[in-house]
Amino acid sequence: LGGGFGGLACARKLKGVDVEVVLIDRTNHHLFQPLLYQVATAGLSGSDIAQPIRTILRGQSNLNIHMASALGIDLAARVVKFDWRDYSLEYDYLVIALGAVTNWFGHNEWSQHAMGLKNLEDAYAIRERLLGAFERAEILRDDPVELARQLTVVVIGGGATGVEMAGAVAELASHVLKPEYRSANLATTRVILIDAGERLLSTFDPDLSARAKVDLERMGVTVQLSTMVQEVGSGFVVAGNTRYEAGTIIWAAGVTAPAIVYDLQAENVVPKIKIERGRIPVGKDCAIAGHPNVFAIGDIAAMTDGAGVNTPGLAQGAMQMGEHAAKVIRADLISAEIRAAVKPFVYHDKGTMATIGKSSAVAHIGKLKAGGFVAWVLWLVVHLIFLVDLRSKLNVCLKWVWAYAFYRPSGRLLSARKSP
Ligand SMILES: Cc1cc2nc3c(=O)[nH]c(=O)nc-3n(C[C@H](O)[C@H](O)[C@H](O)COP(=O)(O)OP(=O)(O)OC[C@H]3O[C@@H](n4cnc5c(N)ncnc54)[C@H](O)[C@@H]3O)c2cc1C
Repeated sequence: LGGGFGGLACARKLKGVDVEVVLIDRTNHHLFQPLLYQVATAGLSGSDIAQPIRTILRGQSNLNIHMASALGIDLAARVVKFDWRDYSLEYDYLVIALGAVTNWFGHNEWSQHAMGLKNLEDAYAIRERLLGAFERAEILRDDPVELARQLTVVVIGGGATGVEMAGAVAELASHVLKPEYRSANLATTRVILIDAGERLLSTFDPDLSARAKVDLERMGVTVQLSTMVQEVGSGFVVAGNTRYEAGTIIWAAGVTAPAIVYDLQAENVVPKIKIERGRIPVGKDCAIAGHPNVFAIGDIAAMTDGAGVNTPGLAQGAMQMGEHAAKVIRADLISAEIRAAVKPFVYHDKGTMATIGKSSAVAHIGKLKAGGFVAWVLWLVVHLIFLVDLRSKLNVCLKWVWAYAFYRPSGRLLSARKSP
């Protein structure tokens, strides 16, 4: 279930095995989420970072791809139910790789006013709001209060997504688009990045967190740390007892498991499953305790690996777990003894990085800790390598070179506004 990083890696690893693999996703494409913020800020188009799953896996003869949204999992009956008519599917092995959803921390009503960033629809919604605000600013002449509101962007959450969004928005307004507007001065756009913690990028080395803050502030972003959001409403955010009027509010504060995964905690599921901090605990074989034929991988899995390391919610963790689950299934198909002999999962940390703006990023790879231009080049190279196909690599590379040379983003089309 799920054609993201985990599901795709698992399906690929089952190539050539004498099983019928059915990969099910509610969309027809695999999405490279690390570059979503560039779609949201008009740097790239959706098709640059998403490819049809059928195209990616077209050479795999034991694989069927079904586009459907999973609604419920009946572990006792070994059946998954879907949203289309009475389509359901029985399984021998189930790999749950449904990824995470935006966590509103008990305030689902805030989702009416703030926008998360988890899929292409989210990215398009942010892009429309942002570019639309700039267009409105250009024709707003007599209302300085509304003008300031349109040109204020609040980003909530100082992890990699929040940092990348804040940096990209500041750059887009102050440098990239500014020369094209006559009446509005986009350089006055305020970007406010709010986080409840004491530092940005809390999973990174503290030196890199400090570096990211300095770089963002240099770009004009206001960074508010140790600040709790108290309310999000239509066009405003209250945080740290201050009210910010904002035309665009972006929520990058955290993720949790989708509802279908929480439903696995139902009373009638035996042995019981307990979701912890938005994730399903799994064993070192990626299977759910007491359910040896059901695997959970990627962002929805809480895995403490064979070396005692908690696998982070990153693409590399999802891919490694996907491959491991496939390895366990292959072994189990032979015998329980062979399965028991499979070495416990060990997460290989290939490094973490976040980009801040043009020529600015932070990267931690092995013993190397880098900031600025060097980290930025590393970030570009790594993201190009991991894009799923050659067409995307070439496309994205060309657009980046173009944007670097001419400051011209390519994904800026807005359609006519609907009448209220
Ligand atoms: C904005 C952003 C930036 C990120 N940047 C980085 C980064 O720089 N580096 C990094 O390593 N990681 C990054 N990540 C995290 C990384 O993308 C995730 O860790 C990774 O995608 C997890 O893989 P997954 O397979 O668990 O889930 P996903 O890749 O999210 O895949 C889940 C799949 O399940 C499908 N699905 C969901 N619900 C259903 C349903 N009910 N029925 C059918 N299908 C369903 C979805 O359509 C999706 O295709 C970023 C994430 C985001 C959102």
